[in-house]
Amino acid sequence: MIMKDRASPGIRKVCDAGLRRLRPGHPVAGKLEERRKQAEAGFGGEERVDGVLAEYRHPGPIRVFADLGLVCGSRFQLDALLLTRSWACLLEVKNISGRSVIRDIPPQLVRITKDGREEALGSPFAQLDSHLMLFRDWLHERNTPIPVYGAVVFAYPSQMVEAAAAPHPILFPNNIPLFLRNLPEHPLLDEHELDGLARQVLAAHSPYVQRPLCTMYPQVSRSDIRTGVICPDCGEMGMRWHDRAWHCRCGCISRSAHIGALHDWFHIFGGELTNEECRRFLGVEDRHAAKRLMKSAGLEVSGSGRWTTYRLKL
Ligand SMILES: [Zn+2]
Repeated sequence: MIMKDRASPGIRKVCDAGLRRLRPGHPVAGKLEERRKQAEAGFGGEERVDGVLAEYRHPGPIRVFADLGLVCGSRFQLDALLLTRSWACLLEVKNISGRSVIRDIPPQLVRITKDGREEALGSPFAQLDSHLMLFRDWLHERNTPIPVYGAVVFAYPSQMVEAAAAPHPILFPNNIPLFLRNLPEHPLLDEHELDGLARQVLAAHSPYVQRPLCTMYPQVSRSDIRTGVICPDCGEMGMRWHDRAWHCRCGCISRSAHIGALHDWFHIFGGELTNEECRRFLGVEDRHAAKRLMKSAGLEVSGSGRWTTYRLKL
Protein backbone atom coordinates (compact mmCIF):
# COMPACT_ATOMS: atom_id res chain seq x y z
CA MET A 1 0.00 0.00 0.00
CA ILE A 2 1.45 3.39 -1.04
CA MET A 3 1.25 5.67 2.00
CA LYS A 4 3.04 8.68 0.55
CA ASP A 5 3.63 9.76 -3.04
CA ARG A 6 6.59 11.63 -4.42
CA ALA A 7 6.32 15.40 -4.86
CA SER A 8 7.87 17.14 -7.83
CA PRO A 9 11.22 18.58 -6.67
CA GLY A 10 11.22 22.25 -5.62
CA ILE A 11 14.62 22.78 -7.25
CA ARG A 12 12.95 22.34 -10.63
CA LYS A 13 10.60 25.27 -9.95
CA VAL A 14 13.49 27.43 -8.74
CA CYS A 15 15.53 26.65 -11.86
CA ASP A 16 12.56 27.34 -14.14
CA ALA A 17 11.84 30.67 -12.44
CA GLY A 18 15.51 31.66 -12.70
CA LEU A 19 15.76 30.66 -16.35
CA ARG A 20 12.63 32.69 -17.17
CA ARG A 21 13.77 35.77 -15.27
CA LEU A 22 17.56 36.08 -15.34
CA ARG A 23 18.74 38.66 -17.83
CA PRO A 24 20.03 37.02 -21.02
CA GLY A 25 23.59 35.71 -20.84
CA HIS A 26 23.76 35.74 -17.02
CA PRO A 27 26.52 33.33 -15.86
CA VAL A 28 24.21 31.54 -13.40
CA ALA A 29 21.81 30.50 -16.20
CA GLY A 30 24.12 27.70 -17.39
CA LYS A 31 24.39 26.34 -13.85
CA LEU A 32 20.60 26.36 -13.53
CA GLU A 33 20.18 24.40 -16.76
CA GLU A 34 22.63 21.79 -15.45
CA ARG A 35 20.89 21.55 -12.06
CA ARG A 36 17.51 21.31 -13.68
CA LYS A 37 18.69 18.46 -15.87
CA GLN A 38 20.07 16.64 -12.82
CA ALA A 39 16.85 17.18 -10.87
CA GLU A 40 14.82 15.95 -13.82
CA ALA A 41 16.97 12.81 -14.21
CA GLY A 42 16.89 12.10 -10.47
CA PHE A 43 13.11 12.50 -10.32
CA GLY A 44 12.62 10.35 -13.44
CA GLY A 45 14.71 7.59 -11.86
CA GLU A 46 12.81 7.73 -8.59
CA GLU A 47 9.47 7.60 -10.41
CA ARG A 48 10.65 4.47 -12.19
CA VAL A 49 11.30 2.82 -8.83
CA ASP A 50 7.90 4.06 -7.57
CA GLY A 51 6.30 2.26 -10.53
CA VAL A 52 7.92 -1.03 -9.55
CA LEU A 53 6.93 -0.60 -5.90
CA ALA A 54 3.33 0.24 -6.82
CA GLU A 55 3.01 -3.08 -8.64
CA TYR A 56 4.91 -5.15 -6.09
CA ARG A 57 2.84 -7.67 -4.13
CA HIS A 58 4.29 -8.82 -0.81
CA PRO A 59 3.11 -12.03 0.91
CA GLY A 60 2.04 -9.97 3.97
CA PRO A 61 1.01 -6.34 4.50
CA ILE A 62 3.50 -3.75 3.27
CA ARG A 63 3.56 0.04 3.57
CA VAL A 64 5.49 2.14 1.05
CA PHE A 65 6.66 5.75 1.45
CA ALA A 66 8.35 7.81 -1.25
CA ASP A 67 10.64 10.76 -0.56
CA LEU A 68 10.46 11.04 3.20
CA GLY A 69 12.11 13.71 5.35
CA LEU A 70 12.73 12.62 8.95
CA VAL A 71 14.70 14.07 11.82
CA CYS A 72 16.70 12.08 14.35
CA GLY A 73 19.41 14.35 15.69
CA SER A 74 19.96 15.52 12.14
CA ARG A 75 17.61 15.65 9.18
CA PHE A 76 17.73 12.88 6.60
CA GLN A 77 15.88 12.29 3.35
CA LEU A 78 14.88 8.76 2.29
CA ASP A 79 14.21 8.09 -1.40
CA ALA A 80 11.95 5.13 -0.53
CA LEU A 81 11.02 3.39 2.71
CA LEU A 82 9.17 0.08 2.97
CA LEU A 83 7.71 -1.35 6.17
CA THR A 84 6.41 -4.84 6.80
CA ARG A 85 5.61 -6.78 9.97
CA SER A 86 9.17 -8.21 9.88
CA TRP A 87 11.47 -5.45 8.64
CA ALA A 88 12.06 -1.97 7.28
CA CYS A 89 13.94 -1.42 4.03
CA LEU A 90 15.51 1.75 2.64
CA LEU A 91 16.17 2.19 -1.08
CA GLU A 92 18.73 4.76 -2.15
CA VAL A 93 17.92 5.63 -5.77
CA LYS A 94 20.59 6.84 -8.21
CA ASN A 95 20.27 7.99 -11.77
CA ILE A 96 23.70 8.95 -13.00
CA SER A 97 24.46 9.10 -16.68
CA GLY A 98 27.75 7.78 -18.02
CA ARG A 99 29.86 5.22 -16.17
CA SER A 100 29.85 5.16 -12.36
CA VAL A 101 32.77 3.78 -10.35
CA ILE A 102 32.13 3.43 -6.64
CA ARG A 103 35.35 3.63 -4.62
CA ASP A 104 35.94 2.51 -1.08
CA ILE A 105 38.81 4.76 0.00
CA PRO A 106 37.85 7.53 0.03
CA PRO A 107 34.13 6.70 -0.22
CA GLN A 108 33.24 8.26 -3.55
CA LEU A 109 31.29 7.71 -6.69
CA VAL A 110 33.27 8.83 -9.70
CA ARG A 111 31.13 9.59 -12.71
CA ILE A 112 32.86 9.30 -16.06
CA THR A 113 31.00 11.09 -18.82
CA LYS A 114 30.90 10.00 -22.46
CA ASP A 115 33.60 12.51 -23.35
CA GLY A 116 35.88 11.16 -20.59
CA ARG A 117 35.39 13.88 -17.97
CA GLU A 118 35.48 12.68 -14.35
CA GLU A 119 33.34 14.07 -11.57
CA ALA A 120 33.42 12.93 -7.93
CA LEU A 121 30.17 12.55 -6.00
CA GLY A 122 29.41 11.13 -2.55
CA SER A 123 29.39 7.34 -2.28
CA PRO A 124 25.85 5.91 -2.31
CA PHE A 125 27.01 3.19 0.12
CA ALA A 126 28.24 5.78 2.62
CA GLN A 127 24.96 7.67 2.21
CA LEU A 128 22.93 4.49 2.75
CA ASP A 129 25.03 3.60 5.83
CA SER A 130 24.31 6.99 7.32
CA HIS A 131 20.57 6.70 6.56
CA LEU A 132 20.45 3.17 8.01
CA MET A 133 22.06 4.38 11.22
CA LEU A 134 19.71 7.35 11.52
CA PHE A 135 16.57 5.35 10.74
CA ARG A 136 17.58 2.62 13.23
CA ASP A 137 17.96 5.36 15.85
CA TRP A 138 14.59 6.78 14.81
CA LEU A 139 12.95 3.35 15.32
CA HIS A 140 14.79 2.84 18.60
CA GLU A 141 13.34 6.12 19.92
CA ARG A 142 9.92 4.63 19.20
CA ASN A 143 10.68 1.24 20.79
CA THR A 144 10.25 -0.57 17.49
CA PRO A 145 13.00 -3.17 17.27
CA ILE A 146 12.61 -4.37 13.67
CA PRO A 147 15.69 -4.98 11.50
CA VAL A 148 16.44 -2.36 8.84
CA TYR A 149 17.83 -3.41 5.47
CA GLY A 150 18.93 -1.30 2.55
CA ALA A 151 19.96 -1.36 -1.08
CA VAL A 152 21.26 1.07 -3.67
CA VAL A 153 19.07 1.13 -6.77
CA PHE A 154 20.37 2.36 -10.11
CA ALA A 155 17.23 3.47 -11.90
CA TYR A 156 18.12 2.33 -15.42
CA PRO A 157 19.66 -1.05 -16.38
CA SER A 158 21.62 0.83 -19.05
CA GLN A 159 23.66 2.55 -16.33
CA MET A 160 27.17 1.15 -16.09
CA VAL A 161 28.28 0.64 -12.51
CA GLU A 162 31.50 -0.72 -11.07
CA ALA A 163 32.18 -1.16 -7.38
CA ALA A 164 35.41 -2.29 -5.70
CA ALA A 165 33.39 -3.83 -2.87
CA ALA A 166 29.65 -3.86 -2.29
CA PRO A 167 28.74 -3.57 1.40
CA HIS A 168 25.08 -3.30 0.29
CA PRO A 169 23.25 -4.81 -2.66
CA ILE A 170 23.23 -2.84 -5.92
CA LEU A 171 19.94 -3.37 -7.76
CA PHE A 172 18.18 -2.29 -10.92
CA PRO A 173 14.42 -1.69 -10.59
CA ASN A 174 13.42 -5.10 -11.94
CA ASN A 175 15.57 -6.79 -9.23
CA ILE A 176 13.65 -5.10 -6.40
CA PRO A 177 10.74 -7.59 -6.10
CA LEU A 178 13.01 -10.64 -5.67
CA PHE A 179 15.28 -8.74 -3.28
CA LEU A 180 12.30 -7.85 -1.05
CA ARG A 181 10.90 -11.39 -1.20
CA ASN A 182 14.22 -12.79 0.01
CA LEU A 183 14.51 -10.59 3.10
CA PRO A 184 14.12 -12.71 6.29
CA GLU A 185 10.49 -12.97 7.41
CA HIS A 186 10.15 -13.15 11.20
CA PRO A 187 7.08 -11.08 12.08
CA LEU A 188 7.74 -8.86 15.10
CA LEU A 189 4.74 -6.55 14.68
CA ASP A 190 1.07 -7.40 14.20
CA GLU A 191 -0.84 -5.55 11.49
CA HIS A 192 -2.24 -3.09 14.02
CA GLU A 193 1.29 -2.20 15.21
CA LEU A 194 2.50 -1.90 11.61
CA ASP A 195 -0.27 0.62 10.91
CA GLY A 196 0.62 2.50 14.08
CA LEU A 197 4.23 2.72 12.92
CA ALA A 198 3.15 3.87 9.44
CA ARG A 199 1.07 6.63 11.04
CA GLN A 200 4.07 7.72 13.11
CA VAL A 201 6.23 7.87 9.97
CA LEU A 202 3.67 10.05 8.19
CA ALA A 203 3.26 12.34 11.19
CA ALA A 204 7.05 12.75 11.50
CA HIS A 205 7.57 13.57 7.82
CA SER A 206 8.80 17.12 7.29
CA PRO A 207 8.94 18.23 3.67
CA TYR A 208 12.22 19.56 2.37
CA VAL A 209 12.15 23.34 2.18
CA GLN A 210 13.75 24.48 -1.05
CA ARG A 211 16.03 27.51 -0.80
CA PRO A 212 15.23 30.39 -3.15
CA LEU A 213 17.54 31.22 -6.04
CA CYS A 214 19.11 34.30 -4.41
CA THR A 215 20.23 32.22 -1.40
CA MET A 216 21.57 29.43 -3.60
CA TYR A 217 23.50 31.91 -5.78
CA PRO A 218 24.29 35.05 -3.75
CA GLN A 219 25.96 36.56 -6.83
CA VAL A 220 22.48 37.04 -8.35
CA SER A 221 21.40 40.59 -7.54
CA ARG A 222 17.98 42.17 -7.76
CA SER A 223 18.91 44.00 -10.96
CA ASP A 224 19.73 40.66 -12.66
CA ILE A 225 16.08 39.63 -12.43
CA ARG A 226 13.65 40.84 -15.08
CA THR A 227 10.34 42.04 -13.65
CA GLY A 228 6.88 41.94 -15.22
CA VAL A 229 4.02 39.58 -15.96
CA ILE A 230 4.64 37.04 -18.72
CA CYS A 231 1.99 36.51 -21.39
CA PRO A 232 0.64 32.93 -21.28
CA ASP A 233 0.10 32.99 -25.06
CA CYS A 234 3.20 34.52 -26.63
CA GLY A 235 5.65 34.43 -23.68
CA GLU A 236 6.46 38.17 -23.91
CA MET A 237 7.20 39.93 -20.65
CA GLY A 238 5.36 43.08 -19.54
CA MET A 239 1.60 42.54 -19.68
CA ARG A 240 -0.37 45.64 -18.60
CA TRP A 241 -3.03 45.59 -15.88
CA HIS A 242 -6.18 47.55 -16.64
CA ASP A 243 -9.93 46.91 -16.52
CA ARG A 244 -9.26 44.12 -14.02
CA ALA A 245 -7.28 42.02 -16.49
CA TRP A 246 -3.80 41.59 -17.94
CA HIS A 247 -3.42 42.71 -21.53
CA CYS A 248 -0.62 41.75 -23.93
CA ARG A 249 0.39 43.44 -27.16
CA CYS A 250 -0.43 40.15 -28.91
CA GLY A 251 -4.10 40.60 -27.95
CA CYS A 252 -4.13 38.04 -25.15
CA ILE A 253 -6.26 38.95 -22.12
CA SER A 254 -5.78 37.06 -18.85
CA ARG A 255 -7.09 37.42 -15.32
CA SER A 256 -4.55 35.06 -13.75
CA ALA A 257 -1.22 35.75 -15.48
CA HIS A 258 0.16 37.41 -12.30
CA ILE A 259 0.01 34.14 -10.35
CA GLY A 260 2.98 32.65 -12.19
CA ALA A 261 4.92 35.91 -11.80
CA LEU A 262 4.30 35.97 -8.05
CA HIS A 263 5.41 32.34 -7.74
CA ASP A 264 8.56 33.25 -9.67
CA TRP A 265 9.20 36.04 -7.17
CA PHE A 266 9.03 33.60 -4.22
CA HIS A 267 11.21 30.99 -5.96
CA ILE A 268 13.79 33.69 -6.70
CA PHE A 269 13.78 35.92 -3.60
CA GLY A 270 11.95 33.83 -0.97
CA GLY A 271 10.59 35.15 2.33
CA GLU A 272 7.92 37.81 2.50
CA LEU A 273 6.51 40.04 -0.18
CA THR A 274 5.39 43.60 0.54
CA ASN A 275 2.81 45.58 -1.38
CA GLU A 276 5.52 47.95 -2.66
CA GLU A 277 7.73 45.12 -3.92
CA CYS A 278 4.69 43.45 -5.51
CA ARG A 279 3.91 46.63 -7.45
CA ARG A 280 7.52 46.93 -8.59
CA PHE A 281 7.64 43.30 -9.72
CA LEU A 282 4.25 43.13 -11.47
CA GLY A 283 4.40 46.68 -12.82
CA VAL A 284 1.17 47.84 -11.15
CA GLU A 285 0.77 51.35 -9.74
CA ASP A 286 -2.38 51.01 -7.63
CA ARG A 287 -1.69 49.52 -4.17
CA HIS A 288 -5.31 48.29 -3.84
CA ALA A 289 -5.03 46.44 -7.13
CA ALA A 290 -1.74 44.89 -5.94
CA LYS A 291 -3.44 43.76 -2.74
CA ARG A 292 -6.28 42.12 -4.67
CA LEU A 293 -3.80 40.43 -7.02
CA MET A 294 -1.80 38.96 -4.13
CA LYS A 295 -4.96 37.73 -2.44
CA SER A 296 -6.27 36.14 -5.63
CA ALA A 297 -2.94 34.28 -5.96
CA GLY A 298 -3.74 32.54 -2.66
CA LEU A 299 -0.86 34.09 -0.72
CA GLU A 300 -0.93 33.97 3.04
CA VAL A 301 -1.34 37.35 4.74
CA SER A 302 0.46 38.33 7.93
CA GLY A 303 0.50 41.60 9.85
CA SER A 304 -1.84 44.48 9.12
CA GLY A 305 -1.86 48.02 7.75
CA ARG A 306 1.45 49.18 6.33
CA TRP A 307 3.24 46.18 7.90
CA THR A 308 1.19 43.64 5.94
CA THR A 309 3.32 41.05 4.17
CA TYR A 310 2.44 38.09 2.00
CA ARG A 311 4.02 34.67 1.71
CA LEU A 312 3.59 31.51 -0.29
CA LYS A 313 1.52 28.82 1.45
CA LEU A 314 3.53 25.63 1.85
ZN1 LIG B 1 1.17 37.91 -25.69
